[in-house]
Order: sequence, then structure tokens, then C-alpha cells
Amino acid sequence: MAADTNALADHPLLASGHLPRFRDVDPATIPEAIEYLLGELTAELEAIESGVAPTWDALVEPLERMGDRLGFAWGVVGHLMGVKNSDALREAYESVQPKVVSFGLRQAQSRPIYDALVALREGPEWAGLAPARKRIVESLIRDAKHAGVGLDGAERERFNEIQNELAQRAMHFSNHVLDATAAFSLTLTDPADMAGTPQSLRELAAQNAREAGEEGATAESGPWRLTLDFPCFGPFMEHATSRALREQLYRAYVTRASEGEHDNTRIIEEILALRLEESKILGYRNFAEVSLASKMAPDVDAVKKLLEDLRVASYSAAEKDLEELTAFARERDGDDFEPRPWDVAFWAERIREQRYDYSEEELRPYFPLPRVLEGLFGLSERLFGVRIEAADGEAPTWHDDVRFFRVADESGEPIAAFYLDPYSRPAEKRGGAWMDECLGRSRALAAPGDAVRLPVAYLVCNQTPPVDGRPSLMSFDEVTTLFHEFGHGLQHMLTRVDEGLASGIRNVEWDAVELPSQFMENFCYDRATIRGLSAHFETGEPLPDALFEKVDAARTYRAGSDMLRQLYFASTDLALHDEYVPGGDESPFDVQRRIAERTTVLPPLPEDRFLCSFGHIFAGGYAAGYYSYKWAEVLSADALAGFEDAGLEDEQALSDTGRRFRDTVLALGGSVAPAEVFEAFRGRAPTPDALLRHAGLEAKSAA
Ligand code: ZN
Repeated sequence: MAADTNALADHPLLASGHLPRFRDVDPATIPEAIEYLLGELTAELEAIESGVAPTWDALVEPLERMGDRLGFAWGVVGHLMGVKNSDALREAYESVQPKVVSFGLRQAQSRPIYDALVALREGPEWAGLAPARKRIVESLIRDAKHAGVGLDGAERERFNEIQNELAQRAMHFSNHVLDATAAFSLTLTDPADMAGTPQSLRELAAQNAREAGEEGATAESGPWRLTLDFPCFGPFMEHATSRALREQLYRAYVTRASEGEHDNTRIIEEILALRLEESKILGYRNFAEVSLASKMAPDVDAVKKLLEDLRVASYSAAEKDLEELTAFARERDGDDFEPRPWDVAFWAERIREQRYDYSEEELRPYFPLPRVLEGLFGLSERLFGVRIEAADGEAPTWHDDVRFFRVADESGEPIAAFYLDPYSRPAEKRGGAWMDECLGRSRALAAPGDAVRLPVAYLVCNQTPPVDGRPSLMSFDEVTTLFHEFGHGLQHMLTRVDEGLASGIRNVEWDAVELPSQFMENFCYDRATIRGLSAHFETGEPLPDALFEKVDAARTYRAGSDMLRQLYFASTDLALHDEYVPGGDESPFDVQRRIAERTTVLPPLPEDRFLCSFGHIFAGGYAAGYYSYKWAEVLSADALAGFEDAGLEDEQALSDTGRRFRDTVLALGGSVAPAEVFEAFRGRAPTPDALLRHAGLEAKSAA
């Protein structure tokens, strides 16, 4: 055994606090290393539980250290799962994951730790504790409470039962959606039925057909197999000229998982009833209150007010969108055209094509990655006074395409670093884009001799790789995505909080965490910024103004309709967790229809069952939280307006406002309540005016 321990002493997963040696992580040794670590952490946990003084140093700091060791080891494994996946790695991950999860539960539900935290809050040390530390303790107590730690006897038993039942039902819910989606297909053999559809959809549909046994299927002559997966369903609804087929597909889509063996109707009712029961056990009136207890939004009424203000502002614009669409369709399809739900995406696309005729492909040559990075780093320096320099080779990476950068402040003092893994690698890398923390800023975890441990971020994108010796030419979407993730990265890296449990994005409320990311995205629509970061990869010419104007104008196309659709989802979600009474007069679908009366301009079909596939709230983390998208957008748009007010063209104003943004939103992270952080930046509470203005909508007061 001693020999094993010695071998493990040098294991890369156990070297927490250092830049990870990714290539030294041998999947075969992962379970052993994690189990060894869990053994050590369990012993530490028991030592804390067996009688610890309720003080910050004796209680919270050891918890931070423990969390960091596990977070580092398991974080590296999780990161590799995302960017360097393999069968061996997956096997190692699956074999040890249950042990990691049960250790996490064990700690979350530890009564002695909870009692000690409460004793700390009620003890003599509390009054002298710094505000950031108080906020950390409050969060730890609240999370433990929501994990049921404060319950005793029968209540605790029932609470745990409910957790199990909810986990099971969430799994069944999403399996039903997957299975019901997979159970439907429509095979077309007549080329006329595919009229209007783009080549990419024909290729996908022919490939679907081949996979289903039609060996000779081709994009040109079929057969084409349509499914309800969005990459197939979405383009068909936008482009297929056959109205009857669009109707058939649409009806199948909005009734997914609503009947037969994949029916989610009962599960929805059960989930809502279980959540309500759980909320009452925890001492809340309903699940919306539980959700909001850990959010920036103060209460349900505040969320409802925002949703209503936005609804009033977007409703007539959405009506106009529909009128315009109807008129456009009548000119081409005859005067008796009446819009139905399966017509909207189709005619909206025709108008878009006519009005903003440019393609994503036209934009790409202007956005080679090296130039975009130069522009992005230049913007960061102008706004926030940070200098970003390539430091490739100074840190081990997991792939040769991965870049490493160091970030310094105005005085040249290093403050952070990050990895950038830009390109798509379908064989081993998960899709999408994300920012994750590699190391968090912390004084407690500083190396001997250092004042603080500096933060390191992972920025992962999936953009077009370089082809034929050309640099990676980015689509406008890819540029926006990079800005978005970089915004998250800035909050992680520019934090000045030294408490590891509240630095960077740690301890930031869910409905506020997208503020810096969406804020940075906005700059992709700033002409000066775009001029600065676009350069045709052959001619060096920046993106022509005419093209920029089309991109900018297309941004607000159907903004009222898009906004209203999100409000329909958010309001339905909130009503189900706030007003719905299980077993009462209204079914969840009645609630949906009642909300739809005020939040749709083309009412859903009576048989519409979109709730049966609303995985965000029934199988994801967005229950009574779908509104968060809009809440954070209000913040990010209003933050941008702070820059607009000061003058985006004026370098000095830009720099002053940027420094204020850095010193508040980016620096304070989870150490201060987000409403206070926002006010410190903006000088007042957020308002939705800027969001509406940017969307081309006008604020109106609710009648
Ligand atoms: Zn984000």
C-alpha cells in the first residue's frame, strides 16, 4: 500500500493548485487517484464533524481547501471529458463518478457542519466578519438548508424520498422526449415535397434515410427522411414550400411526448406536486419562492413585473410582425391566406432573405481568428486596462492547437492566465462553447511565499478550423460566441476577491451570471469594434460598412416576436411554480393556455403540448428560473447603455466607464449582492429601457 501511495503522490490529479499536466493523466489511473483523494477528504470531513470550533479559520477555510482539492482533480477529469474524450477516459469517469457524487451529498447534508455554520452566524465572531465572508456563510447555510439538512425524522425521510422521485421523473421526462422524438419520422420520395429546402438539409435527410436502411439515398434524388430533431425540423419549417408537410411536421413537433408510451402528461403533474410539497417542507409557500431565494431577483412579484413590462412593450411589435408577414404572404400566395403556426418560420425567412440579403459565408473572410483575437485583446486593453500576451509553451496543454495567454494589469503585474481551445474536433470534443475555471483566485490557497493564487480560465469554442493553410475564418456567430465566453472569462480572471468561495463567478446568482458575457457580445454590434477586429484575410480590408449595416439591422428583425416568445415560456414556467394548484381546477395545460392568451399573437393549437417537451424546466435546472435569460439581458443591455451614455466614440469616456465596469461587475464577483454591484457601476438600479431600445422596441408603462 505504501508503494501505491508514493506513486500517487506525484499523480497529476493530486497536484492541486498547479497548472495541470494534462498529457500525464493516464485514464487507467484516474479511479485510483480519485478514490485515494476521496479517502483523504472523508477523513478530513470526519475530523471537522467531530467537533470543530465555529470560526471562519477552523471551519470555512478547511471547507474551501477540501473543495479545492476535489474541484481540481475532478475538474481536470471533467475538462478532459469535454475536450479530449476517449473510451478509456469515459470508462474511468463512469466508474468513479458515483463515488464523487455521494461524497458531495455526504458533505452537503452534513448536520454537524450545518450546525457549526449556524453557530458561526450566531456567535461572537460574526459581527467582525468581512461582508464577503458573511455572504459566503449565508450561501453555505442556504444551500445546506435547500439540501434538507435542517430537517428531522419523518420530514427528512419524506424530503429525501421526494429528491429521489424528482430525479427519477426528470430522467423519465427527458427519456420520453428523446424517445418520442426518435419515434417519429417522415420519409419523402417525391422531389416536389422537398421543394425550397437547402442543400444542407437534403444531405442530412438523405443521411437519415441511409441510416434507416435506404442504402441508395442521396441528397439529390432521395429518399429523404425527416425527423423532429431541430437541425432537421428547424430548416424544414423555414424553407419547405409544401404547406401541408409543414403542418404535418409542426403538429408532430408540438405534441411530442404527449400520448402513448412516451406520455409526459402525468409526469408533469407529479413533478409540480412534488416540488410544491418539497417547498412546503422547507418552509416556503411554493417552488417559485425556493428558486428565487438564491437569485438576484428579490421575489416573484419583481419577476412578474419585469415580464409584464417587457410583454407590454413587445406585444404590439409582435402583432405588427404578424401583420407584415400576412401581407407579404398574401401578395405571393393569394388574398385568402390566413397565417397558421406552421407558416410563421417559413414566411419570416422569405422576408429576411429579401430584406437583408447576405450570407454568413460572405462575412467569414473578414474574420480570421488571429485578427479577431488581436481586436478582442485591444478592446480589453482600452476598456479595462489589461494586457493580454501569448505565452504558448509556458503551460502544458491537452492538444497542439490549444493556446495559452497571460493577463497583466496596467502596471504589468500578472493577474491571470487562460487557455483557448478554439477549433471544432468532433471526434474527441463536446459541441458548443464554454468558459470554465481551471484555478480560482484565493488567498487561502496561495503557494508559500505568494500573497494570492491567481485565477486561470479555460475558454473552449468549436469554431471552424484552419483549412488548406488558411487561418480559421470565423462566422459572425462564432465571433459573437468567442466574445460571450471571453466575457465569462473576464469575470473569472479580473476578480479582486481573495476569498476563494466568492471570487470570479463563484457565488454569483444564476440570473446575474450572464451579465459580463452578454455585455461583451454587444460589442460585436459596435461599428468601431468591428472595424478594428475585421480584416479580410487576403486583402486586409475591414468589413465593409454596407455589410455591417445589414448584420446590424438583421439583429432587430422580429425582435418583438422573439421577445414575446421567451416571455410566453418564462411566464408559463413561473405560473406553474407559483399559481398552479395540483389536483385543482386548472391543469398545467390550462395554465399554459391562460398565459398564451396574453403572450402570443397567434394562439397555440388546442392540442399544443409544448410543456411535454419543455426539458429546461422539467428535466433541467431552469424550474421557476427560465426568466433568468431575460433578467440577465436587462442587466447586460443596461450596462452597455452606461457606455453609450458616456460615449462609445470618446476614448477617454470609454476607458473611464470600462475601468468602473472592471472595478465593480468584473472585480466584485460573488462577494457582494449583484443588485449592489450593478448599482455601484450604474449609479442606479437596472431598468429594461436599454434592452427594449436595442431591440427596436419602446418602453411603455403597463396599463
Ligand atoms: Zn454564458
